[in-house]
Amino acid sequence: LLVAGAYVAWLHVKLSRLLRWIRDRKTNEPPNTPGVFEDLSFEFDYLRERHKKRKKKLAKYLRQFQEAIRALPDAAVVLDSNDGVQWANDASLHYLGIRWPEDVDKPITELIRLPELRNFVERERERDVPAIEIESHTAPKRYLSVLIAPYGKDQRLLVARDVTQLHRANQIRSDFVANVSHELRTPITVLRGYLENLVGQREQCPEMWWPALEQMQSHVDRMGTLVEELLLLSKLEQEARVPNPEVVCVGDLIGDIHSRACEISGTREHLFSLEIEPALSIEGARAELYSAFSNLVFNAVNYTPARGSIKIRWYRDDLGAHFEVEDNGIGIAEDQLPRLTERFYRVDASRSRTEGGTGLGLAIVKHVLLRHGAELAISSTLGQGSVFRCDFPESEIAAHFSAAM
Ligand code: ADP
Repeated sequence: LLVAGAYVAWLHVKLSRLLRWIRDRKTNEPPNTPGVFEDLSFEFDYLRERHKKRKKKLAKYLRQFQEAIRALPDAAVVLDSNDGVQWANDASLHYLGIRWPEDVDKPITELIRLPELRNFVERERERDVPAIEIESHTAPKRYLSVLIAPYGKDQRLLVARDVTQLHRANQIRSDFVANVSHELRTPITVLRGYLENLVGQREQCPEMWWPALEQMQSHVDRMGTLVEELLLLSKLEQEARVPNPEVVCVGDLIGDIHSRACEISGTREHLFSLEIEPALSIEGARAELYSAFSNLVFNAVNYTPARGSIKIRWYRDDLGAHFEVEDNGIGIAEDQLPRLTERFYRVDASRSRTEGGTGLGLAIVKHVLLRHGAELAISSTLGQGSVFRCDFPESEIAAHFSAAM
């Protein structure tokens, strides 16, 4: 027992010395007893050296990686789960005014007080939101395309790229279209006036001129509509949001659109059905909403054969307010759907022309909805019909209606 006790005490002393040496290698000697303690100290030394080398290597990689990101011309900011800044490169200071490490842990929405950016950062968490374009508040007249890429556990990388050149090119294109349309407006109005007079008094013209006069009139009318729609698009593009929103009673608006759609349908006698929440109003621009909703309803009339059914719905659910037009007309093939809102895109150009279409209608709808914080959802089956739905978020519903709910 005595020998065993002495052995345990000896082990205890050796182990304590080993522990002291592990904890503080500078002031303590390594255990020099040959055998297991010496092996242990060698093994420990070896592992320690390996760990040190690996740490050095990782630190070198990390440094290289950080230097590479730091040298990126795009601003890159790492955000944590509370949108607090964890790391930012040098370009972030220039474009976004974010300093690293001074601004660590500060929420990005407090560092950049732009409502569009706040909305973007908050909404991106809920679903896939494409990049947004903002004007830099630190670099005057510079435009940035901002996107957020989620990674790891609840972390996100915000990247802001300078798209000023692209923005300028778009501005030039848009100004050009607006100027040309503006220049064409007056001559077309003059032509239209004279042609109306000529057609009105066609008895005074030789009969052989009558078809020519009618054709000229229909083409001038089409050109007039085209120019008006191009001007409307240019106007819609100028500002991202409706400048002075008013409360728009969509129920009344749909009533007006329905009357006009019945006139357009004429002898084709489409069967309309309306399902409307009359008190549901939104904040926006009445004329723009009329233009967007009527485009969808008139398209349904134009692309649905005689006696086809057209359902118009205006309702609210948990996601917000929705305007929906459903028809059982010719439908659209699935591969065409993504391109429908492009300017001048038509599935069947000759049919669209005979229906008086310009190919700009859905582009106008998309822009009007953008200015109202809303989105267009399209679903369609070729030969069976289509559903066009405008989704307005809760925030766009008129306050008095929300309060009444
Ligand atoms: P358009 O002036 O030619 O009607 P739009 O931009 O309004 O231009 O529509 C683009 C194209 O989408 C149309 O040319 C048509 O091919 C297709 N389209 C739009 N609405 C419908 C619909 N309700 N049913 C079938 N096709 C449609």
